[in-house]
Amino acid sequence: MKVFKFGGASIQDAASMQNVGSIIQKHSQDIGLIVISALGKTTNALEKVIISFFEQQNPTAFQLLEEIKEKHLLLCTELGLSQAVVTELEDMFIDVEWILENPPLREFNYYYDQIICLGELLSSKIISEFLITQGIDNVWVDVRDVLRTDDNYRAANVNWAQTQQLVTQKISPLMGKKLVITQGFIGSTDDNCSTTLAREGSDYTAAIFSYCLNAAEMVIWKDVLGVLTADPRLFDDAVLLPNLSYEEAIEMTYYGAQVIHPKTLQPLQAKQIPLRVRSFIHQSHEGTLICKQTAPNNSLNLPPVVVVKPNQTLLKLESLDMEFMDEQKLAKVFQLLSKSQLKTNMSQHSALGFWVSVNTEADKLNVLKTILPPYFSLTVTEGLKLITLRHCSPDLIQKYIGNQTVLLQGNSQNTQQWLVISD
Ligand code: ADP
Ligand code: ASP
Ligand code: MG
Repeated sequence: MKVFKFGGASIQDAASMQNVGSIIQKHSQDIGLIVISALGKTTNALEKVIISFFEQQNPTAFQLLEEIKEKHLLLCTELGLSQAVVTELEDMFIDVEWILENPPLREFNYYYDQIICLGELLSSKIISEFLITQGIDNVWVDVRDVLRTDDNYRAANVNWAQTQQLVTQKISPLMGKKLVITQGFIGSTDDNCSTTLAREGSDYTAAIFSYCLNAAEMVIWKDVLGVLTADPRLFDDAVLLPNLSYEEAIEMTYYGAQVIHPKTLQPLQAKQIPLRVRSFIHQSHEGTLICKQTAPNNSLNLPPVVVVKPNQTLLKLESLDMEFMDEQKLAKVFQLLSKSQLKTNMSQHSALGFWVSVNTEADKLNVLKTILPPYFSLTVTEGLKLITLRHCSPDLIQKYIGNQTVLLQGNSQNTQQWLVISD
């Protein structure tokens, strides 16, 4: 039994929905469960609704939500779905409209998760009903009934024991009998509050189900041929990697290769479930197979890999009391970064200073500023990108780094990193 995942790019309009329908039709004998993310850029559009609501710009929030509704209902018409389906989608919108009608009383992240989940609920419902019109029997499951998390809104942690129990109870009996269609990215707390696994988290959802259902393979369908040596949007000489070890794929996604969500690989590796990344456009290509490699790492002849992580901010913390950046002080620094939920991508320290490249997130940086003890000074440099090169020769380093202005540089086995000014 295989788990499939379709991302936003594969289901952005009626034509792409039909394409996804034909892929599912072709593989229907093998698939047990399909994870769906929101249509196209719906999650970004919903983020704008949430921001307007939180800034108490309610007419704007309603207007933006209306635009999202029109788009989804138009898609239903284009796909020839019934009035009953349209009514079901309208009811999902009403749940969000109710939230928007009252002023926010709780924290931003809580409301974010209660509203943003609409995107996946809508898209998965549309796909499920569309498949039925195509003669593909399936059952739509609200993932919040099985995927349990804590209440760390916007970056919820999976409660594996509870999720495994619920999947075994509610999903396993359907395998081999009914195709299950469910949502990526979202989950729920014990109190039935919606949560999310962080942006782009649908790949991770598919891995959670693959793990809990002991899938034979997980397949994620993308707009690229598979995993390439670099993002083809940035480098036109990027080439396909037909095979990758879990370790190499984990390294690539950790440094920011957007093609797979970084948390996806650990659950798959734990049960040695192969992950295939393949194209929903060029379906005859086999794509990339990520699985356990039998050859030792050094004999794999790994190709050079380039990962560019944009939107970086360099923070420099200096010790004002002239005390060394010793273990205690470093522990304090990491505690401060963890409390403010800033994502550390690269760091270095000297006798009195600590440099760290973090994702540019103003709200989290503000938290850091408010909790910073007086014995630290903080300097902030924005507008940077982090370039990571793996297995690269000096001539390739010259090619990718050239004469760019470097603010921080790091070197570890097989991996070199440069924090440079964005173009
Ligand atoms: P999804 O539709 O599942 O959300 P994403 O847009 O998140 O898919 O991921 C696919 C995109 O990842 C590609 O369009 C590509 O531009 C980008 N990407 C970044 N790094 C790589 C890489 N090393 N190989 C392939 N694609 C990459
Ligand atoms: N829809 C969510 C996002 O855009 C999750 C995902 O697509 O993986 O981040
Ligand atoms: Mg994505």
